[in-house]
Amino acid sequence: MSIKERLDEVNARIRRAATEAGVDPESIILVGASKTNDASRVREAIAAGLKVCGENRVQEMLEKEGQGAYEGAELHFIGHLQKNKVKNVVGLASLIHSVDSLSLMDEIEKQAAKLSLVQDVLLEINIGREEAKSGFFAEDLPAALEKVSSLPHIRVRGLMAVPPICANGEENRPYFLAMKQLFIDNMGKKYDNVYMDFMSMGMSGDFETAIACGANMIRLGSVIFGARDYSRN
Ligand SMILES: *Cc1c(COP(=O)(O)O)cnc(C)c1O
Repeated sequence: MSIKERLDEVNARIRRAATEAGVDPESIILVGASKTNDASRVREAIAAGLKVCGENRVQEMLEKEGQGAYEGAELHFIGHLQKNKVKNVVGLASLIHSVDSLSLMDEIEKQAAKLSLVQDVLLEINIGREEAKSGFFAEDLPAALEKVSSLPHIRVRGLMAVPPICANGEENRPYFLAMKQLFIDNMGKKYDNVYMDFMSMGMSGDFETAIACGANMIRLGSVIFGARDYSRN
């Protein structure tokens, strides 16, 4: 199957899931997780209608950006971000999904201030409370939002989560529902620089369940690009 055929099928599935959930399909933002796919395959996906690309490795993103891979699309950073690489991402990615610590927020503030821009970010929640994963615990979210209100060069646009790997998408439903509750609980609170617009959750194996639980930003890799070939990296 070509990328175009896969993308068309994915878009049909998104429309179906959104309609079933009673939300406007146009409100679901599809982020194509293009890791391990080279610039030409990324361009192929954009030509086929992909509007947002997501990368999770800084080096790979910079290389592909240098090759013009993302022309015509928006670029998001979705992977774990090390502090020493923040300067490479701020201003290049229009949204950083994976802000997972207060010290990372400080570094993004510093770099964004240098460039006189406001960086849009999502706060990553470790919703499965997994030791191997980064992200804020739900109970630490209020302190993080409080902090953002004192950082004029960061704007929080919502929350993101990568739930535990499950055998099927349905098993992640409790985590997605916990995210939805957290999102709703914090939507009503008023913090400066915080706008609860986006809930980024759902990957190739579970995006329909995520949409049913209120996701409006989904990050899909293999279902668009095919199985990843790590040997080419
Ligand atoms: C790779 C990746 C995805 C997409 O994974 P698939 O299972 O291929 O859809 C989503 N989010 C993040 C953070 C990723 O690194």
